[in-house]
Amino acid sequence: MRLHEYQSKEIFVDYRIPIPRGRLASTPEEAGLIAEELNGPVVLKAQVLVGGRGKAGGIRLVKSSDEAEDEASKILGNRIKDIPVRRLLVEEAVNIQQEIYFGLTVDRESGETVMIASAAGGVEIEEVARVSPEKIVRININPLIGLRDYQARNCATDIEIPRELWRSFIGIARNLYQAYITLDSTLAEINPLVITTENRWMALDGKIIIDDNALFRHIDIIDKRDISAESPEEIEARKFGVSYIKLDGNIGCLVNGAGLAMATMDIIRHKGGQPANFLDIGGGASSERVAAALRIILADPQVKTILINIFGGITRCDEVALGIQQVLKEIKPEIPFVIRLVGTNEKEGKQILADSSLTTADSLQEAAEKAVKLSLESA
Ligand code: GDP
Ligand code: MN
Repeated sequence: MRLHEYQSKEIFVDYRIPIPRGRLASTPEEAGLIAEELNGPVVLKAQVLVGGRGKAGGIRLVKSSDEAEDEASKILGNRIKDIPVRRLLVEEAVNIQQEIYFGLTVDRESGETVMIASAAGGVEIEEVARVSPEKIVRININPLIGLRDYQARNCATDIEIPRELWRSFIGIARNLYQAYITLDSTLAEINPLVITTENRWMALDGKIIIDDNALFRHIDIIDKRDISAESPEEIEARKFGVSYIKLDGNIGCLVNGAGLAMATMDIIRHKGGQPANFLDIGGGASSERVAAALRIILADPQVKTILINIFGGITRCDEVALGIQQVLKEIKPEIPFVIRLVGTNEKEGKQILADSSLTTADSLQEAAEKAVKLSLESA
């Protein structure tokens, strides 16, 4: 789950990381009022979950409250990178001396946290990595030991932070690390972390991503979820307890179990096809959940063939079959279905679907071959 800038900054405050004064506005009038309160030049920042808002026109520096109201009316309701802007963060403008990139994320290779910093802050780190990778410093943090002060100090010297700011930089690094670990984040990023002309640190932008699998431990954060920023399919899937990720291919997959779902995608590719999604109906799925999952797949216009791969254990094949039958009756889809149904209550399941004209397969291999063939014919 990705947090908005203003939400990330609420967390920064909790962890004593300095941010500019400011508040959220959802109307131009509010933006004007906040600017008046702040009594000076302000920055208007569109709260949309995309990077590079600056370049896309989502960040505006204005001098007065009138100008703030005026500019706010232009951004609110408009789109930044195709996402409608519903809220603006109105913040006091900061005089910048230097912009730094500072972030913590997961290093999958070592299985540790990696602290990433660069003196080339402000622009997207992916861009820096592409153009001048030598400007990026990476320091691994052993999760059992945690961030040590000397590591933050090494980081400070590597990116040439002025000596008198080392101590305060170490404090920020420590606090961000604390937030990152406590919140089960997969990313905690400050870009830019600036040194103001008054020689003070300020987090001007923030981006925190929380591991979805740990959200149950952070009930207060679940409430911050911005559903308007997610695709309707994903919202629908979550509502029914289905894991769904859309992909670019044309073979829709309905599978029970994440491992089996991945194996199914692998074998589709191996046979020369392209999966349209990852989908795991989970263990012991009810017919309602199966039906919901199938409706989500069928709503994707790119899907030309459906591959259903069920290995019944706790999940009962007859229950799955009932869900499929229901959707077939309701939608009467014209695209071909390939189904492999084995395991618990297999016979009953096959019975239910006997009258439907679905292509059946006994093995995953055979099912994938048939699905790929059908998908190529319809392409
Ligand atoms: P992003 O483009 O979505 O990453 O949005 P940011 O919040 O990082 O802002 C982009 C850039 O706008 C920053 O790197 C700064 O250069 C500039 N910016 C943001 N806030 C201020 C501010 O208070 N004062 C000044 N002078 N520039 C700012
Ligand atoms: Mn930024």
